[in-house]
Amino acid sequence: MTRLHFTLEATACGSRARAARFTTLHNEVLTPTFMPVGTHAAVRAQRREDLLESGAQVLLANTYHLLLRPGTGLFEQFGGIHRFMNWPRSVLTDSGGFQIFSLPGSRSLTEEGAEFRSYVDQTLVRLSPESSIAAQRAIGADIMMVLDQCVPSTVEHAEALRAMQLTHRWAARSLAARGDSPQSLFGIVQGASYADLRAASARAITELPFDGFAIGGLAVGEGRGEREDCTAIVTELLPQDRPRYLMGVGTPLDLLEAVHRGVDMFDCILPTALAKQGVAFTSLGRRDLRRAAYRTLEGPIDPTCRCTTCTNYSIAYLYHLNRVAETQGWQLLGLHNIHFYMGLMREMRRNILAGSWPAFYHAQREVLDARDSYGPPVRHVTKAQRQRLKLKLGRYEVVTDGDVGRIRDTLSGEVMHSVNDPMAEARSLYVEQSRLVERWAERLREPAMRQLVVWDVGLGAAANAMAAIHAVEALTAETDAPRDPLPARLSLVSFENDLDSLILALRHPAWFTHLRHAGPRRLLAEDHWSNPRARIDWRLLRGDFRQLKFVAPLPDIVFFDPFSFKTDSVLWSLDAFRELAQLFSETAVELFTYTYSTSVRAALLAAGFFVAKGRGTGPKAETTIGLSPRAAALPHGHDLLGAEWLGKWRRSDAQAPPGVAADDDSWRAAVAEHPQFRARP
Ligand SMILES: [Zn+2]
Repeated sequence: MTRLHFTLEATACGSRARAARFTTLHNEVLTPTFMPVGTHAAVRAQRREDLLESGAQVLLANTYHLLLRPGTGLFEQFGGIHRFMNWPRSVLTDSGGFQIFSLPGSRSLTEEGAEFRSYVDQTLVRLSPESSIAAQRAIGADIMMVLDQCVPSTVEHAEALRAMQLTHRWAARSLAARGDSPQSLFGIVQGASYADLRAASARAITELPFDGFAIGGLAVGEGRGEREDCTAIVTELLPQDRPRYLMGVGTPLDLLEAVHRGVDMFDCILPTALAKQGVAFTSLGRRDLRRAAYRTLEGPIDPTCRCTTCTNYSIAYLYHLNRVAETQGWQLLGLHNIHFYMGLMREMRRNILAGSWPAFYHAQREVLDARDSYGPPVRHVTKAQRQRLKLKLGRYEVVTDGDVGRIRDTLSGEVMHSVNDPMAEARSLYVEQSRLVERWAERLREPAMRQLVVWDVGLGAAANAMAAIHAVEALTAETDAPRDPLPARLSLVSFENDLDSLILALRHPAWFTHLRHAGPRRLLAEDHWSNPRARIDWRLLRGDFRQLKFVAPLPDIVFFDPFSFKTDSVLWSLDAFRELAQLFSETAVELFTYTYSTSVRAALLAAGFFVAKGRGTGPKAETTIGLSPRAAALPHGHDLLGAEWLGKWRRSDAQAPPGVAADDDSWRAAVAEHPQFRARP
């Protein structure tokens, strides 16, 4: 008998979907269930009253963050997290493994445990299986997780094997450290995307008497198909009489697919993170409140939902709150999203128990992934019109200068890479300054290193992406492609919401010679292209960067090359940079951009980036490099702005970051007192 008194109530026919119940130290939990994420002992922008009302049965809290702040002493004083945050139901704590190992270069790893620098005060923190369990015991979690070594799902087999074996040894030590505590403990199955390792790990971990089993290391870079395959391999090998938890996953459709494959428990930040962007998950599919068509709509955002938001507020009001960046809009939409997730889990459970799962599953698959269809209809262009429009597509047109072509945005008049030979500028500002080729080569030599992830924000006509690809391919010897494809060492992720500029440029290879390559066409057709010989993997994420950045693997390098503030204002706002800084708070990231405007530099500084001078290009004497605090703490070789710039900024009449209201002064001290301007010893 385990500590959770688990009862399997039903398994759906033609599926592994199951309904079960178990009892923690605080309440009975009915599965399948979703656990809202309360990283710092709070779910972002949500009150406990609303979480209770949503039916949340378990909250997830984060050992790594709570260990650093407020520290375990405070939990001992309060007798645990339940009294500290006044939460009467269950709490699950993760072990800190995922956070430690998702930070490149910031930790050292031994058989004993991991060492890393606190992001709060830079002190050295040691985390071992024993100390992680001690922290989770002090926090008072109902369900604790073993410390594991979490590697990206794309690492090579040998590295995945080493991490898995270490995870197994740590699992046994964690179990011993739990001792006679009445708190439950889950083991974690690792093994990256390798079927043999996943199966071996499931067999090894289930040898140990854990109260439940988690599937870790997914949702970190693999595709949806790979994730679903790995999930199915593992759930087949897990015992029927213990709960199964898929860590960090995912969208409503991901949850449906994982329940279908036999998973019981989930956690994910998406319901609250996307609420901040104005995205709602509804019974009609995903709705994006930034679509102008919602501006005047009077009904609730989800006609079938009975949450506080949907019973009290119209979609037009939520649109307005989002438009003016009112915090309450984020809170109301997050509340609805959590209700939607909890309601979806209850519906899954009801259908499993009622024997109607197959019909429910097939119907929901169609709905959950649907995108909103409000807004102007797609314009249809006849063949004759297309002939005449050969130099124009959507809002873009080709302008030429001798044998160099460029793309011009007809709405703003702005021209991409206007100042120079476009490819020379792409090479100089983005590829050379970021030392991309050297860093790729380093990863070829050191297979244990995480792959180099580059975000290409604003694919445009693919000048920057192709400059990177050409530079790496030029160094690849003329050998045959490896027979068994090796994992990519450069992962290039391009973000674009309007592909017309690339489609248009591809029609004119005489002017856009960098596109004479198999990559761009394949990327357009399949959202993916790879070169196994050069170990490059290139993905296209279609849509809004402000949302998509949450689903992309965290980058080492960002090519930040969207249109300027006057055309694409939302990407250059202080809020947008604050979101990026938050996302990069634990990662070393270097961001390269073409502007050197005082207000954009002020926005980066106010958001928490360190800012350095970038190379000049054409008539511009300088460009700009933003460094996350972790990148700034490493030797980077960039020339940080100093007192001279600060003086110029003080005298400037463009001090404020783009888009900041005239009466908003909240950012000013963050610039004037930024640590990069403090005198160094
Ligand atoms: Zn609602």
